[in-house]
Amino acid sequence: MVCPNCGAEMKEGTLFCINCGTRIGNEPGDYKIVVTRPKKLFGVAISFKILIDGVEIGRLTNGISLERMVTEGSHIVTIKSLEKTLEQEVILNDEHKEVELSVSIGFGVVAGRPKINSVTYK
Ligand SMILES: [Zn+2]
Repeated sequence: MVCPNCGAEMKEGTLFCINCGTRIGNEPGDYKIVVTRPKKLFGVAISFKILIDGVEIGRLTNGISLERMVTEGSHIVTIKSLEKTLEQEVILNDEHKEVELSVSIGFGVVAGRPKINSVTYK
């Protein structure tokens, strides 16, 4: 992940930037957001940048999942592919402690557009 203030690279799950001290993301809670990209031969080379509440959690290529523990409440999941951006709000509470977003790539006039296939609350 990358500090949104100074751009320093740091370990996954770090709460404060080791370079500038900016708080990065929420305290991890009992709630989980999982972003999955099913294995497909389509668009293998195009990776998505995944952000949760504006903080990059990693890059998603075909056949992998990224997950992050979060606090209760509303969170914004951002999926970026090249210059195309897609945002999805998810709300976690006692009834739904986990949400899984399945994303893929949409082809057509604009190749490489990120697409959300499903949002499943558990
Ligand atoms: Zn920083």
